[in-house]
Amino acid sequence: MLQLRPNCECCDRDLPPDSADARICSFECTFCASCADGVLAGVCPNCGGELVARPRRPAAKLARFPASSERVFKPAGCAQRPRGPGPTTSPGLTPLSQAIRALRSTWIQSQGAVGPTVAAWTTQTSFH
Ligand SMILES: [Zn+2]
Ligand SMILES: [Zn+2]
Repeated sequence: MLQLRPNCECCDRDLPPDSADARICSFECTFCASCADGVLAGVCPNCGGELVARPRRPAAKLARFPASSERVFKPAGCAQRPRGPGPTTSPGLTPLSQAIRALRSTWIQSQGAVGPTVAAWTTQTSFH
């Protein structure tokens, strides 16, 4: 059963069990949507797993299966960049530059996936 932790590990924002903004990894590390989609780029800083939307528990079930009240707050882990270079703090970061960085990291990943194929193709064509 999900713990339904009450807050974001990064910014300590409240995430009630009926919140649509909660994101969790497979270990239930819990983050708000803005941290998960922003600074964390969809990757859990604790385990490296993907962050997905946390399902909401129906209110009728919460009485019998209450959400966890134990707050977990690890802001240090959220300053880390799991992938790519970059400053540990980004005070002036705009949503646009965040989007660009997310796009770039996606591009780098896709380049890595097709890297060997491109290298082989380049080698073959260089003989002509
Ligand atoms: Zn947060
Ligand atoms: Zn995790």
